[in-house]
Amino acid sequence: MSLTFAIRASPWRCTNTPRLARALSTTPDKEHLSPSSNKPSSAPVPHLKVIHSTSGEYTSSLLATRRFQPGQVIASFADTLSLAPTKRYSTVQVSKHAHIELNSDLVYMNHSCDPAAVVDVEFNVVAAAKEIAPGEPVTFFYPSTEWEMDQPFQCWCGSPKFSIFGGGVGIVYISLILILSFVVQCLMVVQGAKGMHKTQLDQFAVSKHILELAAERDSTNPKKASEAIALKA
Ligand SMILES: [Zn+2]
Repeated sequence: MSLTFAIRASPWRCTNTPRLARALSTTPDKEHLSPSSNKPSSAPVPHLKVIHSTSGEYTSSLLATRRFQPGQVIASFADTLSLAPTKRYSTVQVSKHAHIELNSDLVYMNHSCDPAAVVDVEFNVVAAAKEIAPGEPVTFFYPSTEWEMDQPFQCWCGSPKFSIFGGGVGIVYISLILILSFVVQCLMVVQGAKGMHKTQLDQFAVSKHILELAAERDSTNPKKASEAIALKA
C-alpha cells in the first residue's frame, strides 16, 4: 500500500457524525506512554470504546463498537483538536513543525505496524484502513504522522509486515517466511519516520509532511538515507 495524504479531495467516505473511532493493541497507546500528571483531556467518541487494563500500564486500547468498511471515516477530530505548544507523548504531528492534541478518546489509539486505521491530518479524520469489526482495536501507524517520537518505544504488535531487514531484502525475506508459514515477529523500535528508509515508508499511508521531511533528509544526506533502517531492535 502506498497511499499518501497528498490528495486534495477527501478520500474518506463520511458516514454519520464525524468523530468515531476505536482501537486496541499490544503496544503502548499515546495516553499511557508517560506517567505525566499533565494528562490531555479525553472526551468520549461515538462508536468507540476505551478499554483500560487492570493488569498494568501500557495496555489501554480503543475498540470499535460497530463495523467500519475500508475508507470509511471513523471519527473526526476537527472540533476537538488544539494546537500544542510543543511535541509530547500525546500529540499528533500535523505538519513539519506543528503538533496538536486530539482532546478525545482518540488519544487511546495504539500503534500497529499493520494498522486498522489512518490518521489524516489534512482532513482531521481517522479513517478505516481495512474492515474493522465491532470489538476490534483501532490502531494507526505512528510514524505516518510523527517524524521523531517524543517517547520512542518497542513495538510488540507482531505484524509480519516488517522484518529486521530494510527495503527489498526485507520483502524477499518476508515472502520466504510467509511461504514457510512462519510469522515474523515485529521487534521494531517505534521512534518516528526519521529512522525509516523511504522504501519502508512507501508501505504505509503516511502524511504529506512526513514524505516532505523524508525527501529533505534523503536529498541532503544520501548516505544517511541508505542507512535509515527502522528496525533497530
Ligand atoms: Zn510492530
